[in-house]
Parts: sequence; C-alpha cells; structure tokens
Amino acid sequence: MTDTLAPTTSAVVQERRVVTAIPGPKSQALHERRLKVVPVGVTAALPVYIERAHGAILVDVDGNQFIDLGAGIGVTTIGHTDDAVVAGATEQLEKLTHTLFTITPYEGYVRVAEYLAAHTPGDFAKKTVLVNSGAEAVENGVKIARKYTGRNGVAVLEHAYHGRTNLTMAMNFKASPYSLGFGPFAGDVYRAPNSYPYHDGLSGADAAARTISYLEKTVGAADLACLVVEPIQGEGGFQVPADGYLPALQAWCTANGIVFIADEIQSGMARTGKYFASEHFGLVPDMVLSAKGIAGGLPLAGVTGRAEIMDSAQPGGLGGTFGGNPVSAAAAIAVFEQIEQKNLLAEAVRIENALKGALLELQKKYPVIGDVRGIGAMIAIELVQPGTHEPNAAAVSAISAFAAQKGVLLLTAGTYGNVLRFLPSLAISNELIAEAVGVIDEAFASL
Ligand SMILES: *Cc1c(COP(=O)(O)O)cnc(C)c1O
Repeated sequence: MTDTLAPTTSAVVQERRVVTAIPGPKSQALHERRLKVVPVGVTAALPVYIERAHGAILVDVDGNQFIDLGAGIGVTTIGHTDDAVVAGATEQLEKLTHTLFTITPYEGYVRVAEYLAAHTPGDFAKKTVLVNSGAEAVENGVKIARKYTGRNGVAVLEHAYHGRTNLTMAMNFKASPYSLGFGPFAGDVYRAPNSYPYHDGLSGADAAARTISYLEKTVGAADLACLVVEPIQGEGGFQVPADGYLPALQAWCTANGIVFIADEIQSGMARTGKYFASEHFGLVPDMVLSAKGIAGGLPLAGVTGRAEIMDSAQPGGLGGTFGGNPVSAAAAIAVFEQIEQKNLLAEAVRIENALKGALLELQKKYPVIGDVRGIGAMIAIELVQPGTHEPNAAAVSAISAFAAQKGVLLLTAGTYGNVLRFLPSLAISNELIAEAVGVIDEAFASL
C-alpha cells in the first residue's frame, strides 16, 4: 500500500502515520546537534526534522507522516512540493539563477509584477518591487509611503505582527519574544486600538471611530505617512474585524492623504478564497504587501502599489541583491498559474466549510473553545477559561502537544498564546481535515 521510501515527493501518500515516539530517535539526534550550533533564539515548535513533504503531508526523518495544518505558516499554500512549482523552479534553476535585476533584468520579475498588478484589488496602474521577506516588504512599503507623502508617522494596530527587522519590531504589538531587549527601536510608530469583535463587542463603525480618534489625538492625521493593517491579523490570532471597520479606516486615510497599506503577507495569495483578503472587506488598498504564500515555499515578497506612489522613490532607491530572484519568480509564476488552473480559490471555500463547520461542532462540546473565526483556509479557535473570555494558553499548549503525538501539526497564535490557528494547504482533502479534527476532538476530551 504505502511506501515511505519512495524516491519522489509526489509518491508521499496523503495519510497520517505515526511509527515512532514523537520526536523519533533520528529527530532527537538531529536536535542534539542543532542545540550545539543554532542559537536558542531560533526555536522549534515541534522538533521533528522533516525530510520531505508533498501536498498536505510532512514526512520526518523517522518515517512519521504528519497532517500539516500550518503549511510553514501559510507558505506552501498550494501544497508542499506542488508539481508545477517544482517543474517551474527546476527549469529556471538550470537556465539562470541570478543576474541582479537592477544590473541586467529578466522576464520572470516582470511577469510576477504583472500578476500582482492584475490580482491585487483596484483598477488603476500599479507597480511592484520584489524583495526577499515579509519584513523587507513592510520596510519598503513604509519607506515608499514616507517618500511619497513627505511625512514620518507610521500607524499600526494592536495585536499586529509585521516582522523581526528593526522597523518592524517597532510595529509589532507583542514585545516578548519579538523585541524584548533588542532596542533602540525606530521612532514615529503609533499603535492604535483595533477591532477585535470577540473581546470589544464594538460595531465596525464604533471600532473605527475609536481607532481614528486615537490616532488624531496621539499623532494627528497630517503627520501620518501610512496606516499598515493586516486585513485579518495573523500572529495576533486571526482577528476578523467587524463589518465596516476597515472601509472606514481606508476612507479616513484617503480623506487625509495617508497611504493605506494592507499587509497581506499571511492573508493573501488565495489563502482566504480570494487572491487577497482585502476583497472580502471591499478594500482597495493604496499598497498591498505579499510574501509567505507567493512562491510555493521559495523566498519572495512584493510591494505592489499605485504607480504614482511607487514611482516616488528615486532611481536606485529600491532594490537589493537577491530581490525577485529568478528561481523564486519562476515558482511564483507557477503558483499564480495553479491558482487559476486548479481553481484554488474554490478550494479555500471548501476548506472553510469543512473545517469551520467541524470546529463549530467541537465548540458545542467543549466550553474551553470561546470563539471560532476566520475565512477560507485561515481559521482559528480562541481558547478561554470556560464561561469567561480569559485566555487559556495552557489548553492551547496541551492540545497542540497531544495532536503532535498523533501526527497532526497544529500552529498556535495570539497575543496571549491562546489561539490555535489552522492554515492548511489548499491541497488538503476533506478526509484529512476530518481525520485531523478527530484527533483534535480526542485532544479536547483528554484535557
Ligand atoms: C510573517 C509575516 C510578516 C513577516 O514576514 P517574514 O517573511 O517572516 O519577514 C509580516 N507580516 C505578516 C502579516 C506576517 O504574517
């Protein structure tokens, strides 16, 4: 039936299989080696060492197979080692791996920029700069917004996460672990209350009025270059803002000459059943940041914005050695083609129906599940002390540890560490979802 020693990744049978203790002996040996040479600041949520993967299954060095509900934090969105991504990247690898786009350009970069212009919201001329990571995209988005507006202020929201570089550390909500002790930090960053319906109970209009009033009091609209928002917050816990919240913020930005930047690094690239989550809220951002899912696991990120904003940066002001690497660009082109050819937006909706429905059933059984939320293949449950909205991080740790032992990889999130997030690849079958939820059900029963 199954053959875990098969030579190619596409031979990875899409099934869960636990054949050793987790982590197994080979993983444990690798972990010993790692601890000697990799700093503790770089953690491992689950120290099983992965040898290969395909679709929604990770295979570790001991032959265990995990149902992957994290996709490397929403990166292998169209599935691990997707055949078209592997083919596109392999072909490119043999032809050209680097020139530096700002020295002698190549077509792949231009095609990715064309795809982003076509698929980000808004029917106007757009331009894209490609970089290497999400944080670098945030840095560039802010930099360009400052140049365009001639202003310094950067507004962000509570519970936001934007990266680990110096500027983005200053933009994150959570100090520990992201910025504790790593200062001094970039200035002119202003953090406003967000919309978090489960906790604040505010309508979108009321939450927006609170955010706007806060920013007008503490900075003043005239000093703000940009407002950076995640349409659905990622690390913060998948907060889906109340209806009308984001459009009201965008309208205020437009009225005040503030560049409205959607950080779609986690929520974008078909994850929520639209190319970009902004579409669910009727947003047309001035700038959209993409990364994570854009290149099927290869490093690539983009800043896509209104042409007149993007062109405010002087020649030579944007770029970087590896930005828009030809192999990453080829992988991204394959991702865009696969989203279209396999109608993957519909797969995200299928996953939402299967997964959210099952989690809502679990919520009826287990009062520790306070909230079930999210859109498409970006779903979370917030765990609380039963009968309250008080965070229950211990339950999150217990559930994810139990699931790992049974071959289900679950990610955590949330400012208080009390959110379980589900970011499966769009290749996951309903059968694997049901099986994973069965394990999670057992995990809750064991609490
Ligand atoms: C992951 C993430 C980032 C940072 O991306 P890196 O590639 O890790 O630098 C920024 N914003 C959001 C919303 C993210 O999820």
